Amino acid sequence: MISLKRNSKGEPVNAPGIRKRSSSMYKPHQTEMFKISRSKFSDFLNCQRCFYLDRVKGLISPSTPGWTLNETTDLLLKKEFDACREEQTPHRLFSKFDLNHVVPYAHQDLELWRDSMRHGLEHQVKGTNIILHGGIDDVWLDTRNEEIIVVDYKSQANNRPVTPQLYLAGTYHQSYKIQLDIYAYLFQGMGFNVSPTSYFYVVNAIRNADGFHAKMEFQETLVPYEWSSDWIEPEVQSMISVLNSEMIPPPTDACENCAYANQRTLAEVIETPIPSNS
Ligand code: SF4
Repeated sequence: MISLKRNSKGEPVNAPGIRKRSSSMYKPHQTEMFKISRSKFSDFLNCQRCFYLDRVKGLISPSTPGWTLNETTDLLLKKEFDACREEQTPHRLFSKFDLNHVVPYAHQDLELWRDSMRHGLEHQVKGTNIILHGGIDDVWLDTRNEEIIVVDYKSQANNRPVTPQLYLAGTYHQSYKIQLDIYAYLFQGMGFNVSPTSYFYVVNAIRNADGFHAKMEFQETLVPYEWSSDWIEPEVQSMISVLNSEMIPPPTDACENCAYANQRTLAEVIETPIPSNS
């Protein structure tokens, strides 16, 4: 994808490719606190090289356009759940899943927890200078035992109906499970009692309607997921080792971006003849 850097007027401007703000860059062996977002930690899990080039060397990855349709379903779901939160009543979907004892959790910091850019959930990983943080979609409360329930809204368009088994087995959904593992870990670190069951609230756009008619319909499903956070602290230790390394880690063989960059470098070093007009 071709990604052009633009100013607030939409005009193309110089793309530096490297960041100037040193606070977002890690100096190997630094002892000061360093904040790592849930998404950057996931980058580390996907490719240590890209993570290192970003956090230590300050390279800026090309930007991608926003997912405005997905963001809109999130926004509308938040409004629905906030109305139930205000009344402390179960959401309309809960009875279908025997969750009438669950209400959206009312907490004074909810908007901070949802603000992934400036705040989110935060926890300093024990024995390290790493503060992990991440913004949530929602959190519910089990009124029987006062445990909080971690929730993420997910939008998709798939011809197959959503079932928990298929959804949790999906190749592209493994990172979603990591996301909930991290949120549950952060809540626990912040001192909350967290239910062992978290949920994906999945809205699946119906693709076999007879036309658009200025509306899109969705099937809604709750997918329960038993989160696990045992793996997080060992991975944070590995991440710190990578951050402290003087060596750039190797690339991931399956990555199409690196394959493209390598082929492009090869193509550019071979002198290309200038096309003639004759
Ligand atoms: S393989 Fe290369 S482009 Fe792909 S994620 Fe890793 S460093 Fe980035």
